[in-house]
Formats: sequence, structure tokens, C-alpha cells
Amino acid sequence: MSATRIDCDICIVGGGPAGLSAALAAAKAGATVHLLDLFERPGGQYFMQPAAGAHGPARRQIAAGGRLIAAARAAGVTVHENAEVFGAYADPVIYARVGESALTLRPKAVVIATGAHDRVAPFPGWTLPGVMTPGAGQRLAKLHGTLPGRRVVLAGCGPFLMVVAGQLRAAGCDVLRVVEATPSPRALLAGIARHPARWGEALRLLTPVAPLAGRFRFGAVVTAAAGDDHVRSVTIARLGADGLPDERARETIADVDALLVGHGFRPSIEVPRLLGCAIDFDQDAGGHHLRIDRATGATSVPGIFAAGEVTGVAGARPALAAGTIAGLAAARHAGFAAGKGDERALARALDFALMLRRAYRVPYRALGRLPRPETVLCRCEEIDAATVAAAHADGARDAAGIKLWTRAGMGPCQGRGCGFGLGLQLAETAGLDPAAFGANPSRFPARPVPLSVVADALAAGEDGA
Ligand SMILES: Cc1cc2nc3c(=O)[nH]c(=O)nc-3n(C[C@H](O)[C@H](O)[C@H](O)COP(=O)(O)OP(=O)(O)OC[C@H]3O[C@@H](n4cnc5c(N)ncnc54)[C@H](O)[C@@H]3O)c2cc1C
Repeated sequence: MSATRIDCDICIVGGGPAGLSAALAAAKAGATVHLLDLFERPGGQYFMQPAAGAHGPARRQIAAGGRLIAAARAAGVTVHENAEVFGAYADPVIYARVGESALTLRPKAVVIATGAHDRVAPFPGWTLPGVMTPGAGQRLAKLHGTLPGRRVVLAGCGPFLMVVAGQLRAAGCDVLRVVEATPSPRALLAGIARHPARWGEALRLLTPVAPLAGRFRFGAVVTAAAGDDHVRSVTIARLGADGLPDERARETIADVDALLVGHGFRPSIEVPRLLGCAIDFDQDAGGHHLRIDRATGATSVPGIFAAGEVTGVAGARPALAAGTIAGLAAARHAGFAAGKGDERALARALDFALMLRRAYRVPYRALGRLPRPETVLCRCEEIDAATVAAAHADGARDAAGIKLWTRAGMGPCQGRGCGFGLGLQLAETAGLDPAAFGANPSRFPARPVPLSVVADALAAGEDGA
């Protein structure tokens, strides 16, 4: 057991595109910058770097990420890998665990860049081995050279399905179907046509999946997965005009050994909520996300800035531009003379993200209808749909109430996995507004860490320590 305390100008939480660009900008302005990331290597989701010793394919994104990491280090940024932030107070003080040791930072300003995680909704069979998120399947293939399965079904909504379908096909998977809820690709193609600057990127996205064109099913959702000790078959249904699965338009896909399902991403807001940062709700931007001033990245708490997906899901380009803006603003807050970043570049990148949001239609109503009474909604605490419905009937009306009544959202993942599904289920079955349903309350420690680390981190953070 040990604890390290670091007093510095700026602490960045999260080492993806947003965190890295914030760190680089702040360090170039002269600030001492410490960046914490819970992964083995910085880079986040877009710039994901192969772990030491792993044989990930040499990709354009890995190379670009490697250059950004090297630039940040060369500018003097200290990168703490495997550093999991589990607590924070608005003094500001940041608590992290690095293995069995505690790391406490007392910075003058903080940039939150914790990104997002896969957005999943429960359905019968979703807890079977072999059913996972597209992000998990991508991570297996991209970082570890392991296939999530040989005969794979991809399902959900959003451009990420195409990214993963192309990567899995290249890695050797037989991608049996890509089940996309959006009725057709027309809005996407028309949107891309209006953004010539992104045509190269679009080509790189579409080319690897072109051979799979006949395997796409648009306007459909997965309604169930079945199997014994592993997923073996997947049932899909077309969405009717009412937005609900049409029971008469079903297809069952046999001989499946992996099903990857996700409906975009959810901002990872647990840490900033401990700081008291205000949040807003926009279902199409991933749900609850941090409220910021776009010109500076300032949150509602003085000295706490934010950038990237945690402020609303929009992709890597906006994350890079917003990171620079937030890093410079944090440097100014810490007393350095720093510029302001390129707000127009951010606006252009956000414009493309808005087009994508409009082009894809997440079938919220259908997803809320999929669970049966016995379907588990909260996997950590094994709480089923019937228990949640009973809690609602007893008077639980929001995420906090459902958590207290049933323990749903109280387990190790703290609602990251179940929050979206709980909100949808109660919206569809009980008419609750997902915005009013609220976000899972964040509690210290926000992540499951040993008590000894918590105690050491708190002691190290005391003034005079
Ligand atoms: C699973 C997944 C896969 C994706 N793959 C792609 C892709 O292939 N192509 C694409 O264009 N977009 C992809 N995206 C979208 C991607 O999120 C953005 O394009 C971009 O990476 C966002 O940058 P960011 O810096 O905001 O967040 P991220 O890149 O997600 O970086 C956030 C970082 O914060 C760290 N972090 C989070 N919580 C903590 C904590 N408590 N303590 C310490 N560190 C923490 C994470 O480890 C992560 O490295 C993916 C998103 C997800 C969720």
C-alpha cells in the first residue's frame, strides 16, 4: 500500500482525443499537466493503442494517436497509465488508483475527458455468453487479435456498426447480418454528400463493408437471442410504422456464435457528477451529458472544464477541437497566458455530428418493449423487469428511486450498463419521461476500488500531507 500526492497546474481525466489535445494545448501554454487514463495505454477509443506485446493491425488511427501521444509527452505532459479515477471533489482534488496504490492530485484546474461507453438495451437472451457490445468485440479484434466469434451478427444503430463490421470482416469473422434499425442508408448518403471534406473518411468507412451490402437488414431490431451455454441463434424483426417490432416480419438466424449489439454511446459522467457538474439530457447525443460553455469548455463548477464525448456524443473530430479549447481555458484559469482555440473548427465538426444524429434513428420505443417480465435489466444486481415494474407501481419514479427500491444500478458498473434500458422500459411501459427519469446518482467511490486505496488517497489529499 502506498500513496503519491501531486500538486500541479492541470489534471486531465481521460486520455482519448479530447484529453490528449487538452493536455497538449495546456502544456504548450506552460502549465504542468498530469493526464490520467484507466487503460494500459492512452489513446481512448478512437486512438486506441495496442497494448505492449499485442499484435494489433497497424492502422491509420493508431499511428495518428501515437503521434498525438508523443507530442503531448514531448510538450512535458506526464501520462499516468492504468490510473482509474474513482473520486473527485471540487476543491479540486482527484483520487485515482494505480494497481494497489493511491494517486491523489491537487491541481489548479481540471479537464474532464472521460468519453463514452457502449449504449445497450436489454432483450431476452442478452445475458447469454457470446452476446456483447460492438465496442467489446472491436477491442478483442483490434487490440488482442482475438475474434469475438466466427459467425457473428452485428446489430443496433449508428455508424459504429459499419466500423466494427468492416474490422471484424478484415479480421476473419463471417459477418452473417448487420441489423441496422434506421430504415435506410439514404439520409446518411445524402448527408455525406453535403460534406465534401469528409468524403475520404466516408470512403474508408464504406469500402470495407461494401462486400457485406447484401447482409444488411435496415429497419430491423434484434428481439431475442437463444442458446444453451452460449448464444446459438438470433431473432430479428422489422420495425413497423408505429416504431415497434412487427411480429409477422421475423427472421431467425441460426449457427451464430457471437452477437454484438449497441445503440450508439452514453457519455461517462460518473466522475464529473461527483464534482457537482450540471448535466443536460439529449437522447440523440447519448442521453445525460455535461453542460458546458462551448467557447471554453467550462462546466457549471469553477475550475472544472470538459471536452469530448462526455459533453455529448459527437465523434473524434469535435473531441480533438473541443479538447484544445478546454485545455487552453484551463491553462488561463491556472494563470497562464493562453489563446482560445478554433471555435469554427469545432462548429464544423459538430455540424457533421448533427447530420449523423439525424441520419440514424434509434428505435427507442421498440427497445423499451423488448424485455419480458423475467428479463434481467440490471446484470450486476440481477434485477428483472417485473421487479422494476413493481417498484414503479409502489411509487419509484426516477433512477434514484428505482435504485433504492430494487438495487438496480447499485452494482459495480453503477448504472453504466443498465441505465439506458431502465429509462426506456419505464418510458414505454409507464410513460415516464427519460429526461425526468434522470441519471443514476454518482457516489464516492465511483468505481469499485479497495478500501485501503480509498483511505490512502484521502489521507494523501489532506492539506499538509
Ligand atoms: C467502445 C467504443 C468504441 C469506439 N470506437 C470508435 C471507432 O472505432 N471509430 C470512431 O470513429 N469512433 C469510435 N468511438 C467513438 C469515440 O468515443 C470518439 O470518436 C472519440 O474517441 C471520443 O474521444 P474522447 O476523448 O471524448 O473519449 P474516449 O476516446 O472515449 O476517451 C476517454 C478516455 O477516458 C478514460 N476514462 C474514462 N473514465 C475514466 C476514469 N474514471 N479514470 C481514468 N480514465 C478514465 C478512458 O479510459 C478513455 O481512454 C468509440 C466509442 C466507444 C465507446
